[in-house]
Amino acid sequence: MADNKKLVSEITSMDEDFTQWYTDVCIKADLVSYSNIKGCMVIKPAGYAIWELIQKHLDARFKESGVQNAYLPMFIPESLLQKEKDHVEGFAPEVAWVTHGGLEELTERYCVRPTSETLFCDYYKGEIHSYKDLPQVLNQWCSVVRWEKETRPFLRSREFLWQEGHTAHATFEEAEERTQQMLEVYADFFENDMAIPVIRGQKTEKEKFAGAEATYTVEALMHDGRALQSATSHNFGDGFAKAFGIQYAGKDNQLHYVNQTSWGLTTRSIGAMIMVHGDNSGLVVPPKIAPVQVVVIPIQQKKEGVLDAAYDIAKSLSAFRVKTDDSDRTPGFKFAEHEMRGIPVRVEIGPKDLEAGKCVLVRRDTREKIECAIADVPTKVGELLDQIQKDMFERAKAHLEAHTFVAHNKDEFAEAFKETKGFVKAMWCGCRECEDKIKEEFNVTSRCIPFEQENISDTCVVCGQPAKKMVYWGRAY
Ligand SMILES: [Zn+2]
Repeated sequence: MADNKKLVSEITSMDEDFTQWYTDVCIKADLVSYSNIKGCMVIKPAGYAIWELIQKHLDARFKESGVQNAYLPMFIPESLLQKEKDHVEGFAPEVAWVTHGGLEELTERYCVRPTSETLFCDYYKGEIHSYKDLPQVLNQWCSVVRWEKETRPFLRSREFLWQEGHTAHATFEEAEERTQQMLEVYADFFENDMAIPVIRGQKTEKEKFAGAEATYTVEALMHDGRALQSATSHNFGDGFAKAFGIQYAGKDNQLHYVNQTSWGLTTRSIGAMIMVHGDNSGLVVPPKIAPVQVVVIPIQQKKEGVLDAAYDIAKSLSAFRVKTDDSDRTPGFKFAEHEMRGIPVRVEIGPKDLEAGKCVLVRRDTREKIECAIADVPTKVGELLDQIQKDMFERAKAHLEAHTFVAHNKDEFAEAFKETKGFVKAMWCGCRECEDKIKEEFNVTSRCIPFEQENISDTCVVCGQPAKKMVYWGRAY
């Protein structure tokens, strides 16, 4: 067990230093490695396999709702980026430019896409002529570049992976419906597949996307009480259409501008999964997105029959993503490593178990050990994976509820952010000055105006004027 201790002792305790714990887990669970390219990271196979499962689950939901995938260029000519004023202002500070093609200086520089609204607009302008060409409901899986100053695995890097959906509709109402529909797709994905409860709501004017009429968001609470914006969905109205001249002939034979949306989820969602579910032994991956759901570990594997029994058990589990660890490392080392990697269930089988026709199942999330007849393993593992998925969600929900506070006035607001960490629900008058003041005084931002409103008090916690909305406030990643 000595090497077991050694491996685990190399991660910092999350209570001691959550930031360091996070980095340690990313590295020790073999999800990423820092690259020699400043600001960028390598997503290693164990990390990429999680992303592939996220893609699989999300893409299936997209297609069910009528989304088709496409792929647009990664370069945006400067003139195209500048067509929509708010949009270019929002992104200019973090855009990377291509100035040369081979040895030749370009007459017009290209930016590497930080997001692709302008490209989709340019494309849709050529595609959309009549109401019969609508709606357009496209998505692309790609990487984007934003020139960030600091790197944190999955949370912040100059290049990251995401999907970006872009749609065009005949009316504002249709665009609004799609915007909210996709937010619900994200919420459903987070809650059912990632086991992460989210708050659904709208961003304030200050926090909305550059160029959007309305931005909706799903916000999750990490283990350390900080918020993470987990996915967003934007209604652009006809703002981009007007800037790009995207018009269609309606049934009335008149020209109308289209109404557009965009919506995205990034590899940050892996960061959310780590920070919601992880513990001091490493990752805890929800079964639905676990690249390996069950690992079979033979104990005293040189003893006759043990290794074969382990292989047979793995074979009986072929309905799941299963792996047998038959390496010659000690069982203690294997336990610690697979715990670090967050594999939901491990099966231990040794000579004594084999004699009794039994084995031991161990849950990663609770460490509970369950004796099980070998013949019953497939059924029991299926039940356990379902139970773990549910329990992980319930635990995360309990954490979210226990770390959501209510502030009736400014003193309570200050108090809530002094001692404890989490979301604070408080009333707001709707004005930008009060939002700015909260940021200045408490270093806290509005996370969202939740769809589920409550009337906590009648006045804004900052200015005391009549309140318009209840807002979730928090410190965010
Ligand atoms: Zn106010």
